[in-house]
Amino acid sequence: MAALRGRPLLAPLGARLRAGPRAPLRSAASAPPLYDVVVSGGGMVGSAMAAVLGHDIHFYDKKIALLEAGPRKDYDHLPDSYSNRVSSISPGSATLLSNRVEVFYGSKAVGYTWPLPSHGCDTSPWVQVELADGRRLQTKLLIGADGHNSVVRKEAEIQNIEHQYDQSAVVATLHLSEATDNNVAWQRFLPTGPIALLPLSDTASSLVWSTSHDHASELLAMDEESFVDSINSAFWSNINHSDFIDAAGAMFRSAISLLRPSGSAVRQLPPSVARVDPESRAMFPLGMGHATEYVQHRVALIGDAAHRVHPLAGQGVNLGFGDIACLAHHLSAAAFNGSDLGSLKHLLKFETERQRHNVSLIAATDVLKRLYSTTLAPLVLLRTWGLQATNALPPVKEQIMAFASK
Ligand SMILES: Cc1cc2nc3c(=O)[nH]c(=O)nc-3n(C[C@H](O)[C@H](O)[C@H](O)COP(=O)(O)OP(=O)(O)OC[C@H]3O[C@@H](n4cnc5c(N)ncnc54)[C@H](O)[C@@H]3O)c2cc1C
Repeated sequence: MAALRGRPLLAPLGARLRAGPRAPLRSAASAPPLYDVVVSGGGMVGSAMAAVLGHDIHFYDKKIALLEAGPRKDYDHLPDSYSNRVSSISPGSATLLSNRVEVFYGSKAVGYTWPLPSHGCDTSPWVQVELADGRRLQTKLLIGADGHNSVVRKEAEIQNIEHQYDQSAVVATLHLSEATDNNVAWQRFLPTGPIALLPLSDTASSLVWSTSHDHASELLAMDEESFVDSINSAFWSNINHSDFIDAAGAMFRSAISLLRPSGSAVRQLPPSVARVDPESRAMFPLGMGHATEYVQHRVALIGDAAHRVHPLAGQGVNLGFGDIACLAHHLSAAAFNGSDLGSLKHLLKFETERQRHNVSLIAATDVLKRLYSTTLAPLVLLRTWGLQATNALPPVKEQIMAFASK
């Protein structure tokens, strides 16, 4: 059993961004409106990217658009119930919202036309974006933040190295049996995959249960009482007790203490679950993926469009926030210098820095997933010793912690 300290941030990203007009982006005769930056995909990563650029002093005179296929969600206050897709955001992942971005909801991008690096006078120098409803716009830089099935990545013909895991994750919003100082995330490694509880409030937690596809389907079909019983017994039952599971728990405890090495005493037992929010149960197939390139002329990929990891390390969106910080840094410098935002010169710096960081974290997460999916004695021993060594060496812990929060 493992505890992960820290409550996830639940800021409704993009909520206060200015909604763009629903009117056509161009009249029949005129050229499509030109933006300095278009972010395609208004999930957590795309919304935060647009907000950070909109807030950047060097972007004060730039036109930024955020395209989101889904409908607008209004959050004047936090919703009464939690979404089933929450993420444990690391301390470096806080974001700022801005009011200088035009946000187009219900605006699915369906096609892109790429400019040639040295365009002729009869071709546009900008990326042309076509929306599902026929509207068009053009941009000096397109940022693809459209998730792991990224249309931007596919249309740019960027190769994606991907692998589907033999697991799906069941997510749900859970209510605890009693109010508690619920600031610890728990994860237990079961033979079928890890089950995790992420704290939402003193009385609610979010479930991420990675398991076989068949078991995930069974969990989804269960009545609410059986579902809650299954969660409690997955955390508390000794049926699956074995030395190697204990070792896994010991390892994760050390990983947790890496993330939050100081602070008050950690609660030692996971909370008991009383009920599940109706309608909050859902399942997602799990996989890993990595784009071989993050940039091309006038294009950059960020977030799940560029990389996808197993949720066992809780790093997916944190990688995306790292991309934002890095890309925003280079774009801000380019804007300050009056350079072309879509130039490969600074986009390649972003790619190099982020690939160097992301590839190792993606590989480490994949190895962890495989290490915890095996019962082979030598591998079990290896991971146990590795964990104990990590636990015993504070400098190693600190290095891992620093690396994961970048
Ligand atoms: C079960 C589960 C648990 C997880 N837990 C954690 C965790 O604890 N911590 C963590 O850091 N990460 C976690 N992750 C990973 C995290 O959810 C993802 O990394 C994160 O959501 C990626 O954000 P994104 O904005 O890049 O992509 P997405 O969330 O996929 O958003 C993409 C957006 O683009 C929009 N879009 C797509 N195509 C188009 C188009 N053509 N035109 C316009 N808009 C488009 C979509 O509507 C969507 O809003 C988890 C993932 C899963 C599956």
